[in-house]
Amino acid sequence: MCEKNDSFESKHIVMFDEEGLDPDNKGLYGGKGANLIKMTQMGIPVPLGFVVTTEACRYFMETGDFPEGFEDDLKEMVAMLEQKTGRIFGDVDNPLIVSVRSGAPISMPGMMDTVLNIGMNVNVANGWGKVIGNSRLAWDSFRRLLQMFGDVVLGIKSADEKDDDPFDVILDEVITREGVENDRQLNAGALENIADRFSALISERGFVFPDDPWEQLKTAIKAVFRSWNTERAVFYRRGKGIPETMGTAVNVQLMVFGNMNSKSATGVVFTRDSATGKNTFNGEYLLEAQGEDVVAGVRTPLKVRKTGSLAWAKLSGISEEERLDKFLSFEEVMPEIYSQLFDIQHKLEEDARDMQDIEFTVEDGKLWILQTRDGMRTAGAMIKITTDFLSRGEISEDEFLRRIDADKISEVLHPVFDPKVLNTKKSFVGGLPASPGAGVGQIVFTAGDAEKWVAGGKKVVLVRTKTSPEDVKGMKVSEAILTAEGGATSHAAVVARGWGKCCVVAASEMKIDYSAKTVMVDGKIYKEGDWISVNGSTGKIYEGKIPVIDPELTDNFYRLIEICKRRARMEVRANADTPEDAKKACGFEASGIGLCRTEHMFFEKGRLEIMREMIMANNDQERSIALEKLLSFQRSDFEGIFTAMNDLPVTVRLLDPPLHEFLPDKDKLKEKMSGLKGSMSYIVGSSDRDDLFDIEEKMQEVSKVLEVLERLSEENPMMGHRGCRLGITFPAIIEMQVRAMIEAALNAQEKGVVVKLEIMVPLIGVLEEFVFLKKIILEVAEEIFSERGKRLDFLIGTMIEIPAAALAMKKIAKEVDFISFGTNDLTQMGLGISRDDGVKFIRDYLEKGIYKHNPFEVLDQEYIGVFVKIAVDDADDDIKKGICGEHGGNPISIKFFHEVGLDYVSCSPLRIPVAWVAAAKATLD
Ligand code: PEP
Ligand code: MG
Repeated sequence: MCEKNDSFESKHIVMFDEEGLDPDNKGLYGGKGANLIKMTQMGIPVPLGFVVTTEACRYFMETGDFPEGFEDDLKEMVAMLEQKTGRIFGDVDNPLIVSVRSGAPISMPGMMDTVLNIGMNVNVANGWGKVIGNSRLAWDSFRRLLQMFGDVVLGIKSADEKDDDPFDVILDEVITREGVENDRQLNAGALENIADRFSALISERGFVFPDDPWEQLKTAIKAVFRSWNTERAVFYRRGKGIPETMGTAVNVQLMVFGNMNSKSATGVVFTRDSATGKNTFNGEYLLEAQGEDVVAGVRTPLKVRKTGSLAWAKLSGISEEERLDKFLSFEEVMPEIYSQLFDIQHKLEEDARDMQDIEFTVEDGKLWILQTRDGMRTAGAMIKITTDFLSRGEISEDEFLRRIDADKISEVLHPVFDPKVLNTKKSFVGGLPASPGAGVGQIVFTAGDAEKWVAGGKKVVLVRTKTSPEDVKGMKVSEAILTAEGGATSHAAVVARGWGKCCVVAASEMKIDYSAKTVMVDGKIYKEGDWISVNGSTGKIYEGKIPVIDPELTDNFYRLIEICKRRARMEVRANADTPEDAKKACGFEASGIGLCRTEHMFFEKGRLEIMREMIMANNDQERSIALEKLLSFQRSDFEGIFTAMNDLPVTVRLLDPPLHEFLPDKDKLKEKMSGLKGSMSYIVGSSDRDDLFDIEEKMQEVSKVLEVLERLSEENPMMGHRGCRLGITFPAIIEMQVRAMIEAALNAQEKGVVVKLEIMVPLIGVLEEFVFLKKIILEVAEEIFSERGKRLDFLIGTMIEIPAAALAMKKIAKEVDFISFGTNDLTQMGLGISRDDGVKFIRDYLEKGIYKHNPFEVLDQEYIGVFVKIAVDDADDDIKKGICGEHGGNPISIKFFHEVGLDYVSCSPLRIPVAWVAAAKATLD
């Protein structure tokens, strides 16, 4: 269902230059339309046009048709364009030619569709070409219309896995046949031939290309409306949390022809560096091209600024002679227009008070601005740009916070390659560094394979000639994206940067063979599955796996965290189990540790064996020997953690997972047993008694572990003997853990450390479980206090992970000092989905719209949030309330936790900055 928004003016079409329009109404005009209206009002040269509003789109989505009277309005608008330009829609000699572009309220780069050159047909191409004396332009424009119309409106795709667009195949064939380098060098005859073949292709596929411009216009508008709901657009919106009901506007605009002649060009510029955030104007352009060419990566674009061009030539090993011959910058080719463009970009950035991404076209020596929008940027650039505007007093602190995308922050924490190892490596191929970071993975060549391999637990680098919107899912799961073609504004680059994913484009030395699943560089062949390391910051690619290390953080980053810390109502704690993680958490200004999972301390080498001894003990004496050994490990770990967190609270959770998790895998043991049996039968005949004893001993060991595994085995271990239930059955384990914590705390306290210990009981369903363990905890503590002659204040609380416990909060509140929501288990128990097995059908649920998000990533506020709300309302004010499930690092969930009144969220150390930003943003209106 489409939502109606009362603030929307009820109009379906408006001219850009109509009086009284509100250029900030992006909800109605879409981002692109609103900015075109604004630029028109600012006197910036924008081609004439009109916006079909999002309201019309919403009507279309609901009914499948245009609103009543829409077609008459459309005719009126076109008539106005005809009157203002003196051209006629569909006229053979003097045609009005328009573009049709999508424009959603929130930018979704590359996700929706565009059709250029509407109004052309064979007759127009013939007639208009002759009248303007430029048949090349006419046929070039028509063949482009046929391709875009075929792709976007008619949905013609290659049958064989989308690798080769059938239109591109024809284009490449003609380029080869004509013996030229690219489409720019094709003459009118060749372009006419391409148009003929494109028309034939459309008919072969069973479609009819409408010669009637009105039909073209209406179907193109409908196609753009429909593109709001393509799989890729829906996928993108879900990832970004953009509401489904918004709909897109459509901009119909007079075509200006960047492909008209040698005094024509098209390009994209950024007011600041989108990778670093530095205040340097930059961009790319192509001579004699239409806008789509720059983004589609058909030809590799050139630099707009001379400095950019010089730097690029140096990086690519191109001599100055060659550069002057083939790779001149826009600044050098069209200096006057460059300086107009420079002034305009400055004006647009000043007006938006944000970095702008601007599309321009030069038609026969005249500059036109086709679009401006807030530019996509890396997280590092986002932080630098927003702090720059804040420092200059151009935006308020509230606005500053609004502009920081919490999810994106984690990008600056991405690892980089270890320079010591990197310096010893030689890259085998290079390209344009499109999105920073370090990505290591096995080569795959299709987005579908990327998804499959990653689902199978592998790490991949997606290697393609270029990417297209159909590839987004595979791109998302890859460690890095590497393309042979395209520029800094190509699809791969823009999309990867938006996600903060490592990406290198235009590695033109790569020759990809999709059918053989190989890529050849300099005569050497790399196959699917080969490991490579991609450096998104330098554009260099290396063979094999290079180790990665944590990045360095800037002053601007710490300033951001400092502001968020000051503004957030909730605190942000860390889930940390080791002194190292505790130190890392402090580096990100954690307010404490919200969850120390003690079992993680037992998984380390040397300790696991002792844990197994403890589980396999034949009697109390054997068990207490093993526990004594574990005690000393736990005590020293806790002391390290308390010391690292001096004066900050540390919540330590008692042992939680089912015990079988500490034992070897049953199937592997069975395999080992049958191997031993095999060796036994081989040796029996021989006289070597020692070997026989040896094998017998081993078989006994294995069968003992198998016996224990059998004893511990449960149909449903996650709902079995785990959490507080372990401590109730084996109090000795809990006694050892509490002793380790309290002794470590007293030791640290003696060294001057301020310890704020909070002991947490996991997975209670009923109050009595908690009371049972609380008694043991207090008894052990008292025993140690009298042994040591010293005391320590500490809190005892519980996790809320079982719905029954949340509903019983009125009772539980009387006994606990604090509660912490374990939303992983709460989601598992509340929705009845196994945390470990649910993944497959969740994907299906997401595709069918049953879930909006994976409930293990974003808290289901309605069905699981209700337990959180009830428990918070029923707990007294003096009980501290936190959350330590994975949702504690998720911005959407953090806003909810803020709203329900939690005191803190706790998340993994690398998510702490994300959580600080989300917690601060949650306080904004
Ligand atoms: C939880 O269930 O949310 C939780 C934090 O505990 P664990 O993930 O260790 O079960
Ligand atoms: Mg849990």
